[in-house]
Amino acid sequence: MALVRDRGLVRMLERRYTPVKPLVDEMRRGYELPAIFYSTRHKMKAGVCYSIGGRTIRLTINPHLKPEHIEPVIIHELAHSIVQYLHGNVQSHGREWRHWMYKLGQNPKARHDFFYLYELRKGDWYACERCGHRVKTRRPLEERGAWHRGCRGLFRLVEAGKDLPPRKAALDVMPASDKSAKIKELLGQLKQAQGMKAESRNIRRQLRMLGHTGGLRHSL
Ligand SMILES: [Zn+2]
Ligand SMILES: [Zn+2]
Repeated sequence: MALVRDRGLVRMLERRYTPVKPLVDEMRRGYELPAIFYSTRHKMKAGVCYSIGGRTIRLTINPHLKPEHIEPVIIHELAHSIVQYLHGNVQSHGREWRHWMYKLGQNPKARHDFFYLYELRKGDWYACERCGHRVKTRRPLEERGAWHRGCRGLFRLVEAGKDLPPRKAALDVMPASDKSAKIKELLGQLKQAQGMKAESRNIRRQLRMLGHTGGLRHSL
């Protein structure tokens, strides 16, 4: 599953948009907040604003972002979305985008520096056979006969790369006891939410993220 709904994302988006809504409406009425999802396909991208003909179809956010980095990314993409609606295809991080970043209370910065995302990049590890220096790359180095510039040693493949499973980082930091308590709590909520479709779906999604999958749909 590539797109994951998350109520927290929607709330954050709404919260950041509300103060600028009058300003947007003043310029052109009819802007509607786009749908927002986590996209498990994102590796190095922090977020994406996908628009067609000035209307944003969806915003997607990298699920591997640290919690404190999620909101800045939402604001960055929201600014793109507003600019698309008001100005169309202008320069992506140009004057208009910077203007709306300021209005949204964020310092305009076009590139993110969440370097930990780069580690998720699918790639192979190579090591210099002379000094042991390691590099990760998606391009096969051997075909190009790459040399380590530092010492003139030849790079050799040491480890073929793999993607990390989605949200692994988030799950790993939660102690097992907290996890089972949270699952218990969610299962209780799920029982109460019977018949409320959106609510149940949201709870089930949280349960899946905690690794609780087996037979849920059948048991409740
Ligand atoms: Zn951007
Ligand atoms: Zn070397």
